[in-house]
Amino acid sequence: MTKRDYYEILGVARNASDEEIKKAYRKLALQYHPDRNPGNKQAEESFKEASEAYEVLRDPEKRQLYDRFGHDGLRNTGFQGFTNFDEIFSSFSSIFEDFFDFGPRMRRRRTGPMRGDDLRYDLGIEFMEAAKGGTKKIEIEKEESCEICSGMGYPEGSPPVTCHACGGSGQVRRTQGFFSIATTCNHCRGRGVVYRELCKQCGGSGRTSKKKTLTLKIPPGVDHGSQLRLVGEGGPGLNGGPAGDLYVVLHVKPHDFFERDGDQLICQIPISFPQAALGAEIEIPTLDGTGLLKIPKGTQTGDVLRMRGQGMPNVRSGRKGDLHVRVFVKTPTNLAERQEELIRELGALEGEEPVAAEKEPTPFAKVKDYIKKNLR
Ligand SMILES: [Zn+2]
Ligand SMILES: [Zn+2]
Repeated sequence: MTKRDYYEILGVARNASDEEIKKAYRKLALQYHPDRNPGNKQAEESFKEASEAYEVLRDPEKRQLYDRFGHDGLRNTGFQGFTNFDEIFSSFSSIFEDFFDFGPRMRRRRTGPMRGDDLRYDLGIEFMEAAKGGTKKIEIEKEESCEICSGMGYPEGSPPVTCHACGGSGQVRRTQGFFSIATTCNHCRGRGVVYRELCKQCGGSGRTSKKKTLTLKIPPGVDHGSQLRLVGEGGPGLNGGPAGDLYVVLHVKPHDFFERDGDQLICQIPISFPQAALGAEIEIPTLDGTGLLKIPKGTQTGDVLRMRGQGMPNVRSGRKGDLHVRVFVKTPTNLAERQEELIRELGALEGEEPVAAEKEPTPFAKVKDYIKKNLR
């Protein structure tokens, strides 16, 4: 009997990618799988043929030999094709795990109820959202137990069939050098039986993926890296086990004006020289809008003034920290003639040599007056 072309068997082009080849084989393997075609000789042959083609084309070295010399090119590699299913299943065990994901069903058998995985979601929020709290909607792709088969992976009442790979024992013996090791059968994952039909909804995985919108409550005072736990919104549980939790990790964007240190807030404010010298009350931004900051007489650049209860709320107690305002005194620039005059007078009063003083000094009261009118 002459052998068919491997590319033709898999129905792929000669320049098909590894991924295309794998996909094509998966399709044929599912179609002709012995568990789904018991006693069907034709299917058995097709399954072996496809497996052989795949064995060659997935291996770059063998594929190259085959491309150059055809079937003859493989003679010296010791590759003979497959004679039975055991060989196929042990050669491709890891691939079959991919192909036929009996995971949830299997784990159930082995370990009973299992809690689902905890999942993580990263969420960026504004500084003010962290300060004020609130609600936020997030959309997640959620794996859930397949509704059609209740996570079993096969339709209800589907009859179990003895696993071909292990003959029902759930174990296969592998020879490695002098040793013969019994390992869990990869094909049935140790159950000894497989199911002929796969659930049409989930393709046998027992899981479906759904978009779900969750409403997230952000408590006031959350910080960068805070985690919010949504109980039961993680991966689905197995065999009646509870679902895992979803951890939302918050990334708080920095603020232009406020800096945060725990519950304390820090900011910097420029004040004028008269404000620093004479004291003042100025309006500054706070988390709640604006607040009045009292600047004591004689304030220096670098002094830190504290506004109690204007900091971040503590995420647990709700108690607010303080706002620490670091002030710096702005030296006036671009002075008008009159301003310059006043400053000269001030300098003179303090005993400094006024620079090119042209006019008689006026009383200090005028400076005060000027400040009252113009700089507050
Ligand atoms: Zn088995
Ligand atoms: Zn299903």
